[in-house]
Amino acid sequence: MATAGKVIKCKAAVAWEPNKPLVIEEIEVAPPKANEVRIKIVATALCHSDFHYLVEFTPKENFPIVLGHEAAGIVESVGPGVTEFQTGDKVIPLYLSQCRECRFCKSPKSNHCENSAPPVPIKAEPDYRYTCKGKNVLQFLGTGTFSEYTVMNQIAVTKIDPAAPLDKVCLLSCGICTGYGAAVNTAKVEPGSTCAVFGLGAVGLAAVMGCYVAGAKRIIAVDINPEKFEKAKVFGATDFINPKDHNKPIHEVLIEMTNGGVDYSLECAGNVGVMRSALESCVKGWGVSVLVGVTNMQDIAARPIQLIAGRTWKGSLFGGFKSKDGVPQMVKAYMDKKVKLDEFITHNMTLDQINDAIELMKHGKCIRCVMSFSPQ
Ligand code: NAD
Ligand code: ZN
Repeated sequence: MATAGKVIKCKAAVAWEPNKPLVIEEIEVAPPKANEVRIKIVATALCHSDFHYLVEFTPKENFPIVLGHEAAGIVESVGPGVTEFQTGDKVIPLYLSQCRECRFCKSPKSNHCENSAPPVPIKAEPDYRYTCKGKNVLQFLGTGTFSEYTVMNQIAVTKIDPAAPLDKVCLLSCGICTGYGAAVNTAKVEPGSTCAVFGLGAVGLAAVMGCYVAGAKRIIAVDINPEKFEKAKVFGATDFINPKDHNKPIHEVLIEMTNGGVDYSLECAGNVGVMRSALESCVKGWGVSVLVGVTNMQDIAARPIQLIAGRTWKGSLFGGFKSKDGVPQMVKAYMDKKVKLDEFITHNMTLDQINDAIELMKHGKCIRCVMSFSPQ
């Protein structure tokens, strides 16, 4: 490749400051160092976590940054020591790595990896791979995919089926694996069970799909935006509840509907009040409630008797999938038509329209907006 070993100048959407529109800029992307892979991003989607970082998590010192972590692309070049990838491989970047060597990677009990990029980027000089107008620019979650090219460590990249459509499977790099896996891997939903999913963005809808594929007989979809119910039906939801239609706590409504509570509940809204409702909606004795939605601003609260009575409260990161192994398996499941992806995509745009995509997410008008850079 003519570009191998050289700095690449390309387009990226730079967030210069919190809470301001992103700016399309020309940035410089460094060549890959030892154990790194430079990837040409073909498609990237907007996830709530990008939005959260921009508008809710706002320390100024964590800017400028290139957001974006849900993506798919093609290897442009590799650094010294990389044997697993070569130019032209179709890959998915992973915000959660799998180094296969740390104590978490070696344990079947967890999908964490000690060597993952920290959620808030470290600003040590050698860690920068992007520059713009003479300034160093951070990569969100170590990925920074709102850029035509990114550079990542090979432990955070996975090779996928070359036949996979990148503008669809990009969704597997975050939201869909997260929700689907929370139901299948973390809750371990059993056939014939009753489930409730709170929050019907891409993550919640993927949780509905996970419950359905696991054989749940009843899946209750809960959202304060009733426009989401039609989509939830597509993924297998059987009942629909808008908490705003009821003048009593939503867990009481669910307990009445299910003769004592659901077997599994999944919180996919990122709200501590909803987390409590989801726990209290579970049946005593064996109910399992999984926290998927992210917030780090407030404490969660519950009466201890809820847990003493036999309910289990769990959390799920990236759907419990060990990332390098799990994502290609999910790509295969999509190619084999065992899981849906196309139905999550409500908008297709180009990177130049990123601020429109952010507006749509802010107003609950999109499930997933996929942005492309160049024809595949
Ligand atoms: P989204 O904004 O598209 O969807 C959130 C949904 O929750 C919306 O439909 C909204 O109407 C609904 N909602 C809001 N308040 C509610 C309430 N009180 N009751 C019921 N529904 C309510 O977001 P998304 O992209 O689907 O992400 C969902 C959450 O998952 C976010 O918090 C995100 O940060 C988190 N997330 C977690 C992980 C993980 O590994 N655990 C990974 C990715 C994203
Ligand atoms: Zn590891």
